[in-house]
Amino acid sequence: MPLYDYRCTACNKTFELLVRASTVPTCPACGSQQLEKQVSAPVAPGQSAAIIARARKKAAREGHFSNYKPSERPRG
Ligand SMILES: [Zn+2]
Repeated sequence: MPLYDYRCTACNKTFELLVRASTVPTCPACGSQQLEKQVSAPVAPGQSAAIIARARKKAAREGHFSNYKPSERPRG
């Protein structure tokens, strides 16, 4: 699961979050969703695509489609 560094633009706190496609990251200090993702560990494009595909598959199994565009929603 990808681990990202975020900075909260509301309270300026920085923190790490495990992020899945099915969740919206929120600040642990103030609950704001106004976060800037910090680019700390670049991931190879192929690996990144695989991570996204895996996360989306998992999200689909769990029934979360809110982060999908209609054209991206799996059929069947
Ligand atoms: Zn905050």
